[in-house]
Amino acid sequence: MWGRQSYRWSDFDFEANAREGIGVDWPIRYADIAPWYDHVERHAGISGSLEGMAQLPDGQFQPPMPLNCGEELIAGRLKGHFDGRRRIIPGRTANLTQPLPGRTQCQFRNACWLGCPFGGYFSTQSSTLPAAMATGRLTLRPFAIVTEVLYDRNTKRATGVRVLDAVTEQTTDYTARIIFLCASTLNSTWLLLRSATDVWPGGLGSSSNALGRNLMDHHFRAGASGTIEGLTDKYYYGRRPTGFYIPRFRNLFGDKREYLRGFGYQGGASRQGWSRAVAELGVGGAFKDAAAQPGPWTIGGTAFGEMLPNPANRVTIDTTKKDKWGLPVLAIDCATGENERLMRKDMMNDMAEMLEAAGVKDVRTYDGGYWPGMGIHEMGTARMGRDPKTSVLNSHNQVWDAPNVFVTDGACMASTACPNPSLTYMALTARAAEFAVNELKRRNL
Ligand SMILES: Cc1cc2nc3c(=O)[nH]c(=O)nc-3n(C[C@H](O)[C@H](O)[C@H](O)COP(=O)(O)OP(=O)(O)OC[C@H]3O[C@@H](n4cnc5c(N)ncnc54)[C@H](O)[C@@H]3O)c2cc1C
Ligand code: SF4
Repeated sequence: MWGRQSYRWSDFDFEANAREGIGVDWPIRYADIAPWYDHVERHAGISGSLEGMAQLPDGQFQPPMPLNCGEELIAGRLKGHFDGRRRIIPGRTANLTQPLPGRTQCQFRNACWLGCPFGGYFSTQSSTLPAAMATGRLTLRPFAIVTEVLYDRNTKRATGVRVLDAVTEQTTDYTARIIFLCASTLNSTWLLLRSATDVWPGGLGSSSNALGRNLMDHHFRAGASGTIEGLTDKYYYGRRPTGFYIPRFRNLFGDKREYLRGFGYQGGASRQGWSRAVAELGVGGAFKDAAAQPGPWTIGGTAFGEMLPNPANRVTIDTTKKDKWGLPVLAIDCATGENERLMRKDMMNDMAEMLEAAGVKDVRTYDGGYWPGMGIHEMGTARMGRDPKTSVLNSHNQVWDAPNVFVTDGACMASTACPNPSLTYMALTARAAEFAVNELKRRNL
């Protein structure tokens, strides 16, 4: 289950660490990953509009899910303000607006959390598993908990994985020439921390002391909302499973704030429904008729902000707690810092400023509070880098200490940027997979 918001990162993101001396430099730039964004966008099916914005590169999009008339109105008014730098665009989403082989386009029901019988949004079930099965070379091993990457200190290579069957509780070792860890940021890190400890007490990939450190997320839940006057004779088609997006505008194009990096907004406009009448505790025909009519238009947006890497934000193996299979769990120690605190003021106030500039009434700001993990975009605990002394992975996602092990989920990220990250994980994974196949053919692995 995911929200399906899918955005490319730009060189503003890949260059930021190096430019500002934060964390480690990404070992890749946008040009390295751009063809792989193309590849995964075509496969997954991302709908979106071409906008020509340097901070949010365009991609291989299906037609966008259009803005509704409330959003169009405010987007149009906003164009005349802030030098046109703040723009409301259709949310780029992994929901199909055109069919792909074996999948039907989205029916605008906004029920994706139930799973989609049409394959209308990108998921393992609709997309990657069928593609893998079609190769005829997929073996699916359910109930398998990988508990360790097996490592041979003589060849300096991983030899396979140890698997605990969640049902029978039997252990099996599988051998492999290459291993991809894509168990999600925290679980891949957990696996590395538990592996090859006879060689590195801190785990496989820990020789730099970066493994488990620099845990990051997107901080959010700050923004503003208000009421749009008019348009009371207008409604919208179906239930669109996305909203609008306002790409980052802070600390770009000459703008300079007291914090580093920036944020983007996800939001939407809609008409209030019958539930607005519940608080009135009314009764009778007039009350019923009023509740049956759409209410006024409201519009709002929540910012998703970049979080800086900080080595003190880390995960370790908790030696005191175990799960139901007797496996130790992760201990997580992570907090936001001063940069995020300063950014949150703008995240709240900038939305209000834009809405007011566009004539929205009764504008209210909010900061609903945030702690790491709420953003569900955890990243960074096995970061890529240029130097094995300060990073866990090289530019092709290979563990420096064991080049036949690839980590391509969010653990590999050297920074978070502010757009949602999963499209970037997918592109990095596809890129690393091609590299691994070629290296295997050249007998380098
Ligand atoms: C509610 C919600 C909304 C989201 N919305 C968005 C969004 O709009 N845009 C966006 O970009 N991202 C979004 N995300 C984040 C996105 O879902 C994740 O970034 C993405 O799923 C990560 O993919 P992954 O393959 O790395 O990990 P996962 O999707 O978590 O897959 C990891 C798999 O590995 C398995 N696994 C874990 N440990 C082991 C083990 N030891 N042995 C064997 N198997 C194991 C797990 O069971 C799982 O199947 C959202 C997340 C949530 C929860
Ligand atoms: S809105 Fe409905 S039809 Fe569209 S992708 Fe989601 S579940 Fe499928």
